[in-house]
Amino acid sequence: MIIVLKPLATQKEIEHIMEKVESLGLKPWVSAGIERTIIGVIGEEDILRSLPLEGFPGVERVVSILKPYKLASRDYKNEPSKIDVGGGIVIGGEKIAVIAGPCSVESREMLLDVAEKVKKSGAVMLRGGAFKPRTSPYSFQGLGEDGLKYMAEARERTGLLLVSELMDLRNIDMFLRYVDVIQIGARNMQNYDLLKEVGKTRKPVLIKRGMANTIKELLMSAEYVLSGGNEKVILCERGIRTFEDLTRFTLDLNAVPAIKSVSHLPVVVDPSHGTGKWGLVKAMSLASIACGADGLMVEVHSNPEEAFSDGDQSLLPSVFEDLMKDASRVASSVSRTV
Ligand code: PEP
Ligand code: MN
Repeated sequence: MIIVLKPLATQKEIEHIMEKVESLGLKPWVSAGIERTIIGVIGEEDILRSLPLEGFPGVERVVSILKPYKLASRDYKNEPSKIDVGGGIVIGGEKIAVIAGPCSVESREMLLDVAEKVKKSGAVMLRGGAFKPRTSPYSFQGLGEDGLKYMAEARERTGLLLVSELMDLRNIDMFLRYVDVIQIGARNMQNYDLLKEVGKTRKPVLIKRGMANTIKELLMSAEYVLSGGNEKVILCERGIRTFEDLTRFTLDLNAVPAIKSVSHLPVVVDPSHGTGKWGLVKAMSLASIACGADGLMVEVHSNPEEAFSDGDQSLLPSVFEDLMKDASRVASSVSRTV
């Protein structure tokens, strides 16, 4: 940890900081520059964090030199994690896992239809929200457990594994029964109680990046699950809020190589929410593969015009089929498969 002092910090202020740091059993050293002085501290950063150093007189800022995420970091595990989600599907290996399906499970017939079509085009997992985090309480909220039952039927028919969003702690047992991967949605990325609870299970968890969260915060959310003992964590970039309003969100593809440079966890990209426009989904899917994504999560609907949610960004099954063909070509150019 580096404590950067204000240019006019006094000797008395410096001594006070030194005493406080030493009282914690840590070893500070002072480096007096021409413009300003810095104090370096060796030892457990967690101990030092118990001091509100940025409020101390003479302190300008405190810079961490150690990453706050530990189990998620490459310092802990240097090779990329391969997450076995069951049924022979591994996320983080050579094969890019394509997850496709409707935003919301709307009916049994519609779900089975989409499931069969995306399976035929090469998807390995089916997505579908049964409990939906809608901005408006008057919008369709999902079919609840019935939606998960239809998902389970689709898995039986197609062999596709299931991913669905868990919003409420009280439904965790239900999700453990039905789904193969528990999705933590962007709006719940920092719902720490929910993260702790899925951390107690051994079910794979896909954590979506919050729309206003940094990569570091996403990794800290992963840390909650990992520190509970659940090592099966998959991260998902789904677009962040910027000043740009031509697209629904700004798909931050920097996040893919950036996360991989500091973490061993696999990264899936969701170009559907990331763009909000079906016409942009293929281009951003291909770009995601090119920059190292381990998976894609794409919204597909048999009749997007009539979709209960996110019709604007949902692909027709025929468009998804076309995407998969090009995805395979881009994947082979980066020595991967879809
Ligand atoms: C979803 O994938 O259904 C969803 C609601 O996405 P997000 O949490 O990224 O908004
Ligand atoms: Mn959606």
